[in-house]
Amino acid sequence: MLKAKILTIFPEIFPGFLGTSLTGKALDEGIWQLEAVNIRDYAFDKHGSVDDTPCGGGAGMIMRPDVLGAAIEHNFEGGKIIYMSPKGKTLTQKDVHALSQEQNLTIICGRFEGIDERVIEEYGIEEISIGDYILTGGEQAAMIMLDAVVRLLPGVLGNAQSTENESFEQNLLEYPQYTRPIEWKGRKVPDILMSGHHENIAKWQRQQALQITRKRRPDLLEKMLDLE
Ligand code: SAH
Repeated sequence: MLKAKILTIFPEIFPGFLGTSLTGKALDEGIWQLEAVNIRDYAFDKHGSVDDTPCGGGAGMIMRPDVLGAAIEHNFEGGKIIYMSPKGKTLTQKDVHALSQEQNLTIICGRFEGIDERVIEEYGIEEISIGDYILTGGEQAAMIMLDAVVRLLPGVLGNAQSTENESFEQNLLEYPQYTRPIEWKGRKVPDILMSGHHENIAKWQRQQALQITRKRRPDLLEKMLDLE
């Protein structure tokens, strides 16, 4: 069972959208656990100060290592400690699979200009980014990462919803999908999909997946060829 502990100054954000739909149902069923810890509870003054000005000058505030360290030391239960960070490794579906095997994840959500570098060194923290853009806080990034991870936990997706053909699972984007009505605004669902010939359908879907990947994400195709 996965237990995710989130260290944040906005615990009220959680579970947020993780409390709805598949991830929410899995939370209710105890397939995973989520605990949001308020970093301010570990502050040393009565105002709950967690940040200070950057050494060497510059804009914004930095989260203090002593307060963050106390929050980590009181809450760590083993496993990986992750800091959601634009400087981290960009999260991929492969990383998501690996994270879904973990028992404990301690996730630090930065605010302001981020956290003191020494915290990362001291606790051997892994930095993970969700993409090359800047958010206001790590909470949003943590929720997106957990959404992707929890979806892969056994029992979260029904049997009918298999992940193996989804985008990125084989370094391929997914083939185009259709449903009824068969004709809509003069556009028909490709005949092959209505043929009932499973082998030809699978072949068509594979060709389509290759084509769309070649066009939109040639970088993925190269990765796929490396694996073969
Ligand atoms: N000054 C930092 C950005 C701080 S943004 C820099 O230039 O790198 C504030 C917080 O939001 C960060 O501490 C981090 O926890 C979170 N964050 C912002 N963008 C993110 C991203 N792309 N992925 C993961 N976390 C992100």
